[in-house]
Parts: sequence; C-alpha cells; structure tokens
Amino acid sequence: MRTTENPAVPALQVTGLTKHFRTAAGVVRAVDDVSFTVGKGEIVGLVGESGSGKSTVGRCVVMLNPPTGGSVVIDGTEVSALRRGRIRRLRTGFTMVFQDPATSLNPRMTVRDIVAEPLVIHRMGRAREHDRRVSELLDLVGLPDSTRTRFPHELSGGQRQRVSIARALIASPSLVVADEPTSALDVSIQASILNLIKDLQRDLGFACLFISHDLAAVEYVADRVLVMYLGRVVEVVGSEGLNDRAAHPYTQALVSAAPVPDPDEQRTRQRITLTGDIPSPLAPPPGCHFHLRCPVAQDVCRVRPPELLPSSEAGHLVACHLVSPGAGNRPAV
Ligand code: SF4
Repeated sequence: MRTTENPAVPALQVTGLTKHFRTAAGVVRAVDDVSFTVGKGEIVGLVGESGSGKSTVGRCVVMLNPPTGGSVVIDGTEVSALRRGRIRRLRTGFTMVFQDPATSLNPRMTVRDIVAEPLVIHRMGRAREHDRRVSELLDLVGLPDSTRTRFPHELSGGQRQRVSIARALIASPSLVVADEPTSALDVSIQASILNLIKDLQRDLGFACLFISHDLAAVEYVADRVLVMYLGRVVEVVGSEGLNDRAAHPYTQALVSAAPVPDPDEQRTRQRITLTGDIPSPLAPPPGCHFHLRCPVAQDVCRVRPPELLPSSEAGHLVACHLVSPGAGNRPAV
C-alpha cells in the first residue's frame, strides 16, 4: 500500500458511495450517495439499525463488495478504480475485523498460521520473521504465546476475536474496518474487546472505521459518529457529549434508547420511541427516508430529501429540514 506522509491526506475518503444489489424482487438500494472521511489515526463510528447499510459501506470500503458508484480512496490511492489483482496486492494496507470470529477463522488452521497468513499470502518476510511477528501480535492482543499452537474451537469467543484482531494487524495496515466486532460476544467480554481496540489504535496509530448497531459502544470508542438510516448518512457528529449535540430526530431517538451508567439518569431519561421498522431498501420512501417514523415530520419531508448540511459546530452535519444550515438548533422531538 502506498502510504503518503502528508497528514492532510485522509486515511479514507469515501465520495458518493452507492451500492445497489439486483435481486429477483427488484433493486436493493443498500447504500445511496454516502460521503465521509476518516483522518489518519482517527476512529470514526458508523451506527444504525440493522438494514441501514452500514456493513455494506464497510465491505465496499475494503472492496469485498465493489461499489456500484462513487469512489473509495485509501491513503491517496483510489482503490475503487483499480482492478482486482492490484487491489489484492494492496490489501495489506486495509483490513477488516468481522463480527463473528467463529465463522471468520479457518477451523483447520492453528492460531499461528491464521495470524501469519496475510504475510504468507503477500510474501512479506520469511517463516522465522512470521513467527516473531505472530509472537509480537499475540502479546499485543493479550494472548499468551502458547496460543499459537491451538485451534479456534479450543478458544473462547473473546480469545477468538483477539486472534482476528492480531491477524488484521499483522501487516501493519493504515486502515482497519471493524464490523460489529463485539456483537457476537458475551456482554461480559465486550468491554474488554472495545478497550483493546482503543488501546491498539492509540499505540499503533491506524485509522479505524468502527461499525456497530450499539450507539454506546460507538460513542465510547469513536472520535466522531456517522449515523446511517436506510442507505444514507443522516448525521455526522463528534462523539463527546453526543446526548446534547445530536440534532437529527433519528440520532436523538438512538441516544435516548442507549443505556447510561448512572442509574438515576437512566431512570429519569426521556425515551423517544420510534414506531414501525426500518422500511425495505427495495422501496425506500420518497423525500426524507425517515419520515414514516419521524415524530416531527412535516409535509415537505414526504416529498423532498434533506441534504446533509453543516450545522453551527465545525464538522457537525445534519440532514433534516428542521435543522437550519449553520444554526445549532435541534428539533424538539
Ligand atoms: Fe424528520 Fe423531516 Fe427531519 Fe426527516 S427531514 S428527520 S422527516 S423532520
């Protein structure tokens, strides 16, 4: 992967990303004109309900699902314009951590071979160096060196996800896409994996697109949060003080539903309940995609899609007709 030294070049720049799937029932508009950046050494969270298109964005970014339209630029290289063979050669620069390590790790390979495999595929170094790197990475992810001879089925879910993370990091990528990395784990070990991702990102400096349906996890891990609804980004906001900053009615509903550590605050918190399910991406509603569930929808929302426009705060973008561009107002939901 060609890495640029220019810190002004983002680790990831996504512009007008679109992904449509043709099915027997029609065209599924999974992702529709999505644009965002992830700066070097930044963690950006991508949050939304199941069906929002967030995982499809992640798979398009690492070219597991080539986009239908738009561009993906990683470290200054437009990977979406490259042929498959060239993308394969660049793969060491951008990797993915998947949701379920039980299915993403080869059950017939030892941990040593699983973790070292990217180095073997890309012919990086010799076997002795691979052994040394595997030991380093196992140590970094908090696993004893003896784990190298074990098979995935001999490990707990949390240990397997640590192996996945070690494998993703072994070739020193500049960008890691983590797709729901804690969703398949017991609640008791989710926090330790979130802390591990935060610590590794701080120590190794890679950029990370952290995808989750769990707003509390995203808020904890990420510097900025992108909120997706039915294939579109509806808000981009700093993660600190999200409760007070969230301006889009959908983000406000997600924030109100997320658990908070303070039991008194949890008890008195006003919950915004959304009615109905996210509509099918086979037939998204016209206008604002959220209008069928929005508690403050207006007539204009049913016919005109809102643009993602800057609010008063630097970097804060909102797609809602009730939020005036450049103003810090929040619709009272
Ligand atoms: Fe609700 Fe309208 Fe804003 Fe969409 S544009 S979030 S429907 S108020």
